[in-house]
Amino acid sequence: MQYRKDRNGNNLSILGYGCMRFTKKGGGIDVEKAEKELMCAYHAGVNYFDTAYIYSGSEAAVGEILERNHIREKVNIATKLPQYLIGNRAALDRYFDEELSRLRTDYVDYYLMHHLTDVAMWEKLKKVGILDWIREKKQIGAIRNIGFSYHGNTENFLKILNDYDWDFCQIQYNYLDEVAQAGKSGLQAAAAKGIPVMIMEPLRGGKLVNMLPEKAKAAMRESGHDWSPAEWGLRWLYNQPEVTVVLSGMNSLEMVEANCRTASVAQAGSFTETDFETLQNVKSAIQEKEKVGCTGCRYCMPCPKGVDIPGIFRCWNTMYTESKSQGRSQFIQTVGLTKQPAFASQCIRCGKCEQHCPQSIPIRDKLQEADRALRPLPYKAAISVARALMFRKPAGK
Ligand code: SF4
Ligand code: SF4
Repeated sequence: MQYRKDRNGNNLSILGYGCMRFTKKGGGIDVEKAEKELMCAYHAGVNYFDTAYIYSGSEAAVGEILERNHIREKVNIATKLPQYLIGNRAALDRYFDEELSRLRTDYVDYYLMHHLTDVAMWEKLKKVGILDWIREKKQIGAIRNIGFSYHGNTENFLKILNDYDWDFCQIQYNYLDEVAQAGKSGLQAAAAKGIPVMIMEPLRGGKLVNMLPEKAKAAMRESGHDWSPAEWGLRWLYNQPEVTVVLSGMNSLEMVEANCRTASVAQAGSFTETDFETLQNVKSAIQEKEKVGCTGCRYCMPCPKGVDIPGIFRCWNTMYTESKSQGRSQFIQTVGLTKQPAFASQCIRCGKCEQHCPQSIPIRDKLQEADRALRPLPYKAAISVARALMFRKPAGK
């Protein structure tokens, strides 16, 4: 296993264990199987285990396994505050204490504000007193590092990143999402501030393993490497020194062993021109199925009416390269639930964006088409309800 440093100089294994995808059994987690997999990773040097309040049964399973094997002090637990459920200061303690009890510990090594998509969510937490709360928890050693996990656009990521002295952050990042969400620019901005970046969805929830078109697989086969599709995805990440830990939701011993092998040999800066070309060919094969040739370059932004043009196109494409539900769910996360609405329906057809698009995309027409596909009536209604709930004013302290 190789290690990279956190902000305090501690060694973190470059492979982290994502504890969201443990195998289920009889309505709960198959703890016996999870224990074998988790301990296999631990013995191979993995020392970072990522869970969350809302991963059903996960915190409790991790707590039980670490306690039974007497390794709590030897590993790092990362877990997350369900910030979307927080309405007042008392709720902060309530959720945190419940998490400690599930995890059978009295401290969390890495604590994240879960699933921020907009700076407004962070502002709401500040209004209920999160800054004082974090200070107190850090003072008594109940939280050792504070961070956030993120799924919105690049602009909001940078705002949140620059608004607080974070110890780390967690972003969705993989070779297909190089310019999506926080993206490479977000990763590099965090690294430039000395903030470790943990990577989630390194294989796009398995898509970069299980759903590759035949042409993409052929490009990998002809590369001269005997790397599996998973290995390609992980190696692309490890190649970047700005990446600290890559989280993988492993649920078989084979997966644990393969990922640990990759994490013991893949070096930063080791990709050759040919390797990059191979992945470019893989991406092109995936993108052939897309609806619109948007590269996510953002030259069309900002739109004077706040439309998230690249975000909408990316989700629309996902509907065709992955699945309708995946595209729509990404749309809800990254466009539908930002505090400032960013819907295509806000477009006034001024045409400013089209003057800057290097791909000559008829953006105005394509946006309308995308909107119809991404927001059929039931989705429109559900998004309105979710927005009303999320952006309601917090109760007093
Ligand atoms: S045409 Fe529509 S999307 Fe493009 S800049 Fe104008 S308002 Fe924004
Ligand atoms: S300028 Fe064109 S290609 Fe670039 S993000 Fe905007 S729509 Fe996409």
